[in-house]
Amino acid sequence: RNNKHLSMSSPQLPPKISRHVAVIGAGAAGLVASRELRREGHDVVVFERDNQVGGTWVYNPRVEPDPLSLDPNRRLIHSSLYRSLRTNLPREVMGFKDYPFIAKNDKKRDQRRFPGHQEVLLYLQDFASEFGIAEIVRFDTEVVHVGPVKDNIGKWTVRSKRKIRDDVREVGFGFDVDEEIYDAVVICNGHYTEPRIAQIPGISSWPGKQMHSHNYRTPEGFQDQVAILIGSSASSFDLSREIAGVAKEVHVTSRSVADETYQEQPGFDNIWLHSMVKELTWSYEKFARRASSKMLVFIKMMQIESAHADGSVVFRNGRVVVADIIIHCTGYKYHFPFLDTNGIVTVDGNRVAPLYKHVFPPVLAPWLSFVGLPWKVVPFPLFELQTKWIAGVLSGHIALPTPEEMMEDVKAFYLTLEASNIPKYRTHNLGVCQFEYDNWLASQCGCPGIEEWREQMYDAAGKSKLLRPEIYRDELDDDDDLVLEAYADFKKYTS
Ligand code: FAD
Repeated sequence: RNNKHLSMSSPQLPPKISRHVAVIGAGAAGLVASRELRREGHDVVVFERDNQVGGTWVYNPRVEPDPLSLDPNRRLIHSSLYRSLRTNLPREVMGFKDYPFIAKNDKKRDQRRFPGHQEVLLYLQDFASEFGIAEIVRFDTEVVHVGPVKDNIGKWTVRSKRKIRDDVREVGFGFDVDEEIYDAVVICNGHYTEPRIAQIPGISSWPGKQMHSHNYRTPEGFQDQVAILIGSSASSFDLSREIAGVAKEVHVTSRSVADETYQEQPGFDNIWLHSMVKELTWSYEKFARRASSKMLVFIKMMQIESAHADGSVVFRNGRVVVADIIIHCTGYKYHFPFLDTNGIVTVDGNRVAPLYKHVFPPVLAPWLSFVGLPWKVVPFPLFELQTKWIAGVLSGHIALPTPEEMMEDVKAFYLTLEASNIPKYRTHNLGVCQFEYDNWLASQCGCPGIEEWREQMYDAAGKSKLLRPEIYRDELDDDDDLVLEAYADFKKYTS
């Protein structure tokens, strides 16, 4: 609706306007954002608080001092990768559309279709050097403030802190603080660093250990332990299997199974699946709006498992387990500690709002944008399409609807979620709609959308994981034709 794309080849096109753009983060999103912005003629500076590109894919064997990462002033470790991590998507599906993630003919590189994390980092480093991105990245530089310039609509102040070695006094690091004005800011700071923790009644007196999966690296330390993993998505899937190799028992809780669930995991004699702890979900929020405070307490008690001082944990299926450790595999929060929009953009119930198509806050568009918020997606191609769109809108070659129209669209979207009982925290969960979303972005940019082989290979990998969870990474069959199609397509970019 009202999203006229002005074709790039149209003779009436106005000249492209070059903007001075700050990109925050040099992970996969920031790298492709920089490339797309520069291709469109913008003048780009990338801020990266680490000393290298890659973001999440820069494995760090160290963990944060507080295993639950609750202290807001803790020394941050950005990446949540564990040592054994292999991708959960085939590399052909995972890579950028026009910079395929193909196996390199080099014995030192990981050739597998679901490679280890180091191979993804090397791929992102290759991407950065291919497009000369490292030259425009300010490493060791953390953005600490982004806010609109007073009385100068559309301009942004970016304050950053650069780590400098104190060679004179040799006392470690000092900081150089800098403040600059930009036309636009593109936020690519990732969303897998700020853990979300499950609330469990009685946990304060529970004597066992607790940690978040953000701080898990290896199964060492889990020998003969009884571990409870809260949550059953990707990290829990991998961690439960790895820990089960050394632990006495592993209990996984899932919120998408019936309350009475108690199942031994096929192929293991020490992993059990239980029904899930319920967090403050949509149903809770819905009740919360109507219920009295007494009733609220009751609802919470009915929904949530409990932990006791004797080390036992009671599940909603009635089972009681005496456990040594609880690992919260409960995901992450969107977190923009540097952003001050005078309350225009908020994070409420893990919904970043209001955002038009998960990217632009209507009244601040296109001068502020967010890349990579959607989850349950194939991230890299989505980042590529989002950033093409942002770059084209900033140069004046792609038109946005008016702020009012965008706001109407956002409101209608939130109403649709509400009508379908979808809780706020799932606002950016695209799942089955992801390719439709990608193709919508592509249509705005006038570029090809997601390839059919990519969609089909993604579906095939998902099915394979369900059917043969232990071996899907090494024995993915039924997709030989799709691999051929993918490589035929890649020739466009590699020959
Ligand atoms: P990040 O990679 O997190 O990069 C953000 C960057 O911003 C970082 O370099 C950070 O240092 C920097 N930064 C943050 N704040 C500031 C600041 N204030 N100032 C300056 N710099 C800042 N995706 C897949 O496609 N396949 C997989 O198999 C897969 N497995 C995953 C496994 C795990 C455990 C996790 C956590 C994620 C996985 N993902 C996977 C998703 C992955 O997050 C995305 O693929 C992608 O790497 C995210 O890129 P990003 O650029 O959005 O964020």
